[in-house]
Amino acid sequence: MSKQSQEHPDGVSQRAPSDHLGPDYKPTDEKPTATVSTKVSHENVTILPQTPQLIALLTMIRDKHTNRADFIFYSNRINRLLVEEALNHLPVLPHTVTTPVGRTYAGVKFEGKICGVSIMRAGEAMEQALRECCRSVRIGKILIQRDEETSKPKLFYDKLPEDIKERWVLLDPMLATGGSALMAVDVLRSKGVPESHICFLNLIASPEGAANFAQKFPNVRIVTAFVDEGLNEKNYIVPGLGDFGDRFYTL
Ligand code: URA
Repeated sequence: MSKQSQEHPDGVSQRAPSDHLGPDYKPTDEKPTATVSTKVSHENVTILPQTPQLIALLTMIRDKHTNRADFIFYSNRINRLLVEEALNHLPVLPHTVTTPVGRTYAGVKFEGKICGVSIMRAGEAMEQALRECCRSVRIGKILIQRDEETSKPKLFYDKLPEDIKERWVLLDPMLATGGSALMAVDVLRSKGVPESHICFLNLIASPEGAANFAQKFPNVRIVTAFVDEGLNEKNYIVPGLGDFGDRFYTL
C-alpha cells in the first residue's frame, strides 16, 4: 500500500500529501507538506478547497507575528468561506421567479431557517461571518469549560432560540479533542434537534477531533478549512495557531 493511502485505525488517513488536496501552485511532490491538509475519510467532513488564497489566509493567522487586527481580519475572511461552503450543504426547494424582462426562471430557495450556536468564547468570533451571509440570523450561546476537578468538559450555560427544530450551525474555530463540540451537539440533541440538522464549522481541526466527532455523530456535518497534523501534550493543535480566543480577543 502506498504511504498516501495508509489508513489510521480511527478512519483518518496518515498525514501525507494527497493528489486532490493542497494548492495547485506547485506539483504535488513539491508542495510543502505543512500546506497539505490531512485527509479525512469520513464523508460528512468537508475540507474547503485548498486554494492558494486559502493557504495564504491560513498562513497569516498561523504566524505568531501577525498582530491582532490582522488576525481578526484574516480569520473573518476564512470564516466567511466556511459559512459560504456550509450554505452549499443546506437543502433547497424549487422556487420560480419572474425576471424584469418578463421571463420565468425556475430557481430554488432555502428550505428552512438557519440558527447559529456559538460555543463561547472563541465561537463568538465566527458570528460575524454568519450574520453577513444570513440576514438577522438568530444566535444561541453555549458555554462549556473544562471542570477543574475532573478535567472533563462541563456545561455551564446555554441559551438557545425557541425554534429549535430549524437548522443549526455550530460555531467553534478549533476542533482539538472535540470534547466541547461533542457536548454542544448533545445539548442540541437534548432539545430535539436531529443530528442531520447540525453543521459544525471550524477553522482548523485535528485528525483526532474529526475522527471522534465522526464516530460519535456520523450524521453531523463538519466543514473545516484545514485538518492539521495532530495535538500536542497540552491538547493544542499543531502546527495550529495557538489559542484562538486569546489571539482574537485579548492579545
Ligand atoms: N483551542 C485553541 O484555541 N487552540 C488550539 O490549538 C486548540 C483548542
